[in-house]
Amino acid sequence: MPNYRAPVQDMQFVITELAGLERLAALPGYEEVTPDLVEAVLEEAAKLAGDVLAPLNQPGDEQGAALTKDGVVAADGFAAAYRRFVENGWNGLSGDPEYGGQGLPGLIAAAAVEMWNSANMSFALCPLLTAGAMEALKAHGSDELKNRFMPKLVSGEWAGTMNLTEPQAGSDLSAVRTRAVPEGDHYRIFGQKIFITWGDHDMAENVVHLVLARLPDAPEGTRGISLFLVPKFLVGPDGSATEHNDVLCASIEHKLGIHASPTAVLAYGDHGGAVGYLVGEENRGLEYMFIMMNLARFSVGIEGVGIAERSYQRARDYARDRVQGRAPGLDKTVPTATILQHPDVRRMLLTMKAQTEATRALAYVTGAAIDNGRRHPDADARKRHQAFVELMIPIVKGWGTEIAQEVTYLGVQVHGGMGFIEETGAAQDYRDARITTIYEGTTAIQANDLIGRKTARDGGVVARSVIGEIVGLATALSADANGALVPIGNELQSAAAALKSAVDWVVPAYGKASRAAHAASVPYLRLWGLVAGGWQLARGAQVAARLLAENKGDASFYRGKIATARFYAECLLPQAAALARAITLGSESVLALSDEQF
Ligand SMILES: Cc1cc2nc3c(=O)[nH]c(=O)nc-3n(C[C@H](O)[C@H](O)[C@H](O)COP(=O)(O)OP(=O)(O)OC[C@H]3O[C@@H](n4cnc5c(N)ncnc54)[C@H](O)[C@@H]3O)c2cc1C
Repeated sequence: MPNYRAPVQDMQFVITELAGLERLAALPGYEEVTPDLVEAVLEEAAKLAGDVLAPLNQPGDEQGAALTKDGVVAADGFAAAYRRFVENGWNGLSGDPEYGGQGLPGLIAAAAVEMWNSANMSFALCPLLTAGAMEALKAHGSDELKNRFMPKLVSGEWAGTMNLTEPQAGSDLSAVRTRAVPEGDHYRIFGQKIFITWGDHDMAENVVHLVLARLPDAPEGTRGISLFLVPKFLVGPDGSATEHNDVLCASIEHKLGIHASPTAVLAYGDHGGAVGYLVGEENRGLEYMFIMMNLARFSVGIEGVGIAERSYQRARDYARDRVQGRAPGLDKTVPTATILQHPDVRRMLLTMKAQTEATRALAYVTGAAIDNGRRHPDADARKRHQAFVELMIPIVKGWGTEIAQEVTYLGVQVHGGMGFIEETGAAQDYRDARITTIYEGTTAIQANDLIGRKTARDGGVVARSVIGEIVGLATALSADANGALVPIGNELQSAAAALKSAVDWVVPAYGKASRAAHAASVPYLRLWGLVAGGWQLARGAQVAARLLAENKGDASFYRGKIATARFYAECLLPQAAALARAITLGSESVLALSDEQF
């Protein structure tokens, strides 16, 4: 099976040239974030991903996690790899220095997270959820709670989880029924949570659950939900884990992919009630959880990039080796060709490469905006960056993970029959990727957010301002003296016009024709992703052309960036016009059938 090699060159290009590393390093607290430091971090992360995590991926898939009488046991090698991960400080890469973290920008952590996910998505989910738990605790926990739990969560000695889902409460969290009964300085938690990722395991000493539950007198619906911290092992005055709390893993799911990531049913309170601590104020839990979900949604978008990259590398390496037939139009004296010589295989690989690089660029640019939105010294700039982040989160998550489906589908196709056979690993990529469009809010839930809160609520102001930037770049490229950039500019221009027509339709439709707007929401999200991804590749092509003209760096890499952006512009961006037409014309027809006609 081919090895995973982190695409450090492309990551560095995106971080430096598109996400604006220099501007990031000028923010307070990030003074030490030099290009050399970033390179060193990426190289070290690449080693851990390639040498330690990737070799566990396929065996972990075959073996899976297991529920024993002592709780869930991770697949062989996972606990040792996790120890190494923690000891080398990877868990706290962007963690708060106040609690022992290294305080690097989230952008740099995002590149590392991409690597963990390419190497071993099941493993990567554990620190991903810990990061989400830390985020919510840091923002809303009391000092006492933070001092007790944050240092060990930041180091990774303790892992975190996110407990939202119940059998009747999936996309609709207002239906949460888990109960929290006040008792002295804490609460007793009763109920059942399902589908909890890494809900129990033996990799960390303790598991810290963040749990949504209702107080006895809480109002119905979303405004009656509170957030609680419930540790698997209670914590003594000296900060060490002591007796087992009343939270037990009842079972783990058998599922399509991510077999080594245990998906647990957790039973709270079967023996008198699990001790839980309120995070923030009563009845504001869902609001707090959204903070955690924003980060988790961004991270799942990165997960999509990671699994797509893995699938691309696997397919490319296979295509270089597999010999089959004669390639049309090539030297007839060569009796056989590798499948890489077949034009259609090249089309598939280039689609995979272009889409993966587009999702990476958009996600990292959003990651830099998250950092700027938090740290920029100027309040207006912070607001501007945050507005961009708000618009982009559902796109990075929703579109990035939908693209991961397409890329891993092609990854199987490039392998031919061997893609369907587990041995190559292409099938595992395809299976593992499948969950990414479902958890942390399905694509439809992201799309609802995008048409409502992110587009219609401000009358399309932020959306149109981003489109304005895209048009500005497209106009400049169309008029560029470098002929290679002109077709990219022209196609981006048409795609941006299509996107603008969709925004012009969605804004009034959301208020006046709500069902039609919702029928068009996922195509609208896909249109946004398609065009915003093309925008980032076009920016990359512009930078690459400049660096080539200045005779700087790796010319072959830069030519590749321009050619990839042109392929995306000419072969993928034309879909924008069709999507916009389907949004504005077709949404009512989606609703045409009666229930009986289905
Ligand atoms: C492997 C795995 C790991 C998970 N990890 C966690 C975890 O760690 N913590 C946790 O709390 N949960 C977790 N989940 C739960 C996950 O977040 C939910 O499965 C997901 O939110 C969807 O909810 P549901 O399964 O109830 O589907 P439903 O909500 O029943 O959705 C079914 C379909 O209806 C659509 N739909 C529902 N509502 C709407 C709407 N308003 N608008 C448009 N379409 C709609 C959906 O898009 C979907 O296509 C995990 C799930 C799995 C499978």
